[in-house]
Amino acid sequence: MHPYGSMRSHGAGTLRADHTDATVTLAGWVSRRRDHGGVAFLDLRDASGTCQVVADPSASAALAAAHEVRPEWVLQIHGTVRRRPEGMENPSLATGEVEVAASSVTVLSPAETPPFPLEGGVEADETLRVRHRYLDLRRETPAHGLRLRAQITSLIRRVMESHGFIDVETPMLTRSTPEGARDFLVPTRAGDGVAYALPQSPQLFKQLLMVAGVERYYQLARCFRDEDLRADRQPEFTQLDVEASFIDEEDLYALFEELFATLWREILDVELATPFPRLSYDEAMRRFGTDKPDTRFGLELVDLAAVFADTEVGVFRGALDAGGVVVAVTLPGGAALTRKQLDDWVDWAKGRRAKGLAWGAVEDGEDGPTLRSPLTKFMSAAEVDALLRATGAGVGDLIFFGAGPATFTRELMGALRVALAQDRGLIGPGSPAEGRWDFLWVTDWPLFEWNPDEARWDPLHHPFTAPREQDLPHLTDDPGAVAARGYDLVLNGTELGGGSIRIHHPGVQQQVFDVLGITPEEAQEKFGFLLRGLAHGAPPHGGIAFGLDRMVMLMAGVASIRDVIAFPKLARGYDPMTDAPARVDDAQLREVGLRRLPPQ
Ligand code: ASP
Repeated sequence: MHPYGSMRSHGAGTLRADHTDATVTLAGWVSRRRDHGGVAFLDLRDASGTCQVVADPSASAALAAAHEVRPEWVLQIHGTVRRRPEGMENPSLATGEVEVAASSVTVLSPAETPPFPLEGGVEADETLRVRHRYLDLRRETPAHGLRLRAQITSLIRRVMESHGFIDVETPMLTRSTPEGARDFLVPTRAGDGVAYALPQSPQLFKQLLMVAGVERYYQLARCFRDEDLRADRQPEFTQLDVEASFIDEEDLYALFEELFATLWREILDVELATPFPRLSYDEAMRRFGTDKPDTRFGLELVDLAAVFADTEVGVFRGALDAGGVVVAVTLPGGAALTRKQLDDWVDWAKGRRAKGLAWGAVEDGEDGPTLRSPLTKFMSAAEVDALLRATGAGVGDLIFFGAGPATFTRELMGALRVALAQDRGLIGPGSPAEGRWDFLWVTDWPLFEWNPDEARWDPLHHPFTAPREQDLPHLTDDPGAVAARGYDLVLNGTELGGGSIRIHHPGVQQQVFDVLGITPEEAQEKFGFLLRGLAHGAPPHGGIAFGLDRMVMLMAGVASIRDVIAFPKLARGYDPMTDAPARVDDAQLREVGLRRLPPQ
């Protein structure tokens, strides 16, 4: 195929000073038009970039046509490349040294006036942009997002295939996969009351591919989860989905450290330090109050149980006596916060269902540092001393205290840590963290978490994750103490992906189902196909999945995954372009055995 298609000789964005005097044929969109009567300037844009075209009376038909055209019309231009007159060069444009003197201008398609400006970096309303996404994608930033995404997926394929992984497609029309979200159902004419589920992930299929002897599988898999669309989720999204046999955690860590190092080197020109650091889930929770720590800044949580073991500070006493924790976050220089600022942080905590947020400012006293705090009158001098030693806080610093149930309090203080970092400019645009890429494996997850509302154990990941060998006996006597062979990869405080070594013995799988309250009959009914597969010679295997959209978003440096998806959905899964989801008519419903309920 001709590099630019047979209707063109060159890409508009490829012309340079060495093309001077070449006759060229270009085709593309008018991005801007300046008509001075005697001469008309058109900026012509195609996928390769933009070039200035000039029509003047030396080619009167071309000039007449140029008078007619409007932004976003599609044109074909014949002409000659020439240097721009001195002083008229545009250094911000790759083609800025040259222009094309048009000998003819042909209109291939006129266009309506765009409903929002495509040039000039004006941010139009997102609903309007997504409604006309075909126009939005003509803009540089979203167009770049798509190209970058394609470059990333191509590199992913190269690295995966260099390690013998093969791309296998798994079904879209299938049964429920338990990943903890709601399924999208696809009713069908096949029978009464039956429906397919769209896959939340290819989990069970990739495990069965291991039983099948594929050994190394990958897929850029579309997954579907009918979740409340919190901040940055899409009901359908893409994962780099991977599974391999006869491997352990170390094999996967090494593979993905290589993959990410390659992506960062080839796309961002950044050399990542490998191996990536590792942190156990417990340590992540203790030091950062989250399972996805952002390690680009300090402000780590400090446990104060030892400092306040004999305390008379009521809230601390109460929390510790109830088996909870007292945790501090120290803000350097924070003693200068005004009363109003401190009250705002207390309100911030209350907004997260905390009862309050205690604080203490370290000040210069007569015999060394003292604590100015509503709690000071209950605190002994020895406690203040021990507190300053434990936190490392010095004069001018502020200590925030959280006290209460362990997980809630740690998560609260972890969120406070991040909010303080944002507020103080430790992360975000222009911060010292800019340009830092802190990758981190989080390991040694618990297999189960207690769900107090339903009074049952839930899997922390999914029910196919292998327990650590030495913890197998605890499946029956102490499920909460069983560690999983699971891992997550975190980047700058965002979860990039996660996975695990899987259970490959049907017996262990049933034991895990037992803990989760899934009876053998239910297990057969829901996952019989997996259990039958496992019984036919399953190799030890494991895998992982990474959110591709988020990965591209972080690499592109944009704020939302919607910016790196060709046709994204907005709040509540709404697509303003196709107007989906749309009402289906009664006849269609009847065909698949459904009837509309009367409105409530
Ligand atoms: N299926 C998992 C997920 O989608 C990933 C994995 O365990 O490989 O989160």
